[in-house]
Amino acid sequence: MSTTQPQNPKPPIIQIRRLKKYYKVGDETVRALDGVDLDIHENEFVAIMGASGSGKSTLMNILGCLDKPTSGAYVLNNKPTHKLGMSQLARVRNEEIGFIFQTFELLNRASALRNVMLPMLYSRANIFNAKKRAKKALQQVSLTDRVHHRPNQLSGGQRQRVAIARALVNDPSILLADEPTGNLDSKTTVEIIQLFKELHAQGQTIIVVTHEEDVAGHAKRIVRLRDGRMISDHPTESDPIHNDWVDRMAKGQGSQAQVTKAEHKLNSDADQQHQQALIEETKTKPRKRLFGSSKKPPQNTPQSINEIESEIKS
Ligand code: ADP
Ligand code: MG
Repeated sequence: MSTTQPQNPKPPIIQIRRLKKYYKVGDETVRALDGVDLDIHENEFVAIMGASGSGKSTLMNILGCLDKPTSGAYVLNNKPTHKLGMSQLARVRNEEIGFIFQTFELLNRASALRNVMLPMLYSRANIFNAKKRAKKALQQVSLTDRVHHRPNQLSGGQRQRVAIARALVNDPSILLADEPTGNLDSKTTVEIIQLFKELHAQGQTIIVVTHEEDVAGHAKRIVRLRDGRMISDHPTESDPIHNDWVDRMAKGQGSQAQVTKAEHKLNSDADQQHQQALIEETKTKPRKRLFGSSKKPPQNTPQSINEIESEIKS
């Protein structure tokens, strides 16, 4: 795999080692992820790219603690998530992760404000401040004048802003977005990406899955997957595929951008069904007990890379 990552003195917020996710389908084993190593530091802005079926959503779902790997290690903010049970994992998810989906996943009968308050209803700590915090999050995404609108009274871009506010409201350590602009037109795509850039400038760690080179171009680093493996990892300005695309654009092949959007729509439609299934699954998970449990996930259990690696080898 080609890589030109600069060194960062702080320990990574995300450490992934030899991550595998296999699915049994009939007699066949689908290797959705087949040995991924990845470190991501605080306040990075990373784009994950790859063809449909390359494992992007599988990786995002594991990063987002929606799913567990078949094997390998995933340490998030010093927490070895691969060792946690599903309910502990749900707790980590609620505390650490803001997730943004292609299809927004808002409650249609609830106002923007209620939608944004939702994650806090699962989190005892913030319940009394829920309304105040939700309003602040909506302000962050410039929707102060749409607080009482329901999703069907909002444009696609505004709906995605509500979803972003909902993702931000618990002050997550990482923001994960799986094809956040897949259902948006070009103009709205630019607005949403601009918002990501602002959040990144404010210190947010952001990981975004996209099919679109122009979207990836705003991230600082591009990780590419193929058949469940990482095939490249570069700062955006030195990613050869991205630079090829930039050159083509500069040579006036601007209509290519439209093609990319159309291709993207095809690809992302293919991804949607699977994503939907996972969303449904998380909706039906029992959540009441998440914060009532006396069992706490291990906090501050620093694991050096060496420890993790020796553990996986053994
Ligand atoms: P991407 O998001 O890059 O399109 P996915 O992560 O959704 O790719 O899927 C990677 C591979 O794993 C695909 O071949 C897909 O068909 C398969 N896959 C994903 N989820 C499941 C599942 N729940 N059961 C069986 N196969 C799956
Ligand atoms: Mg996908």
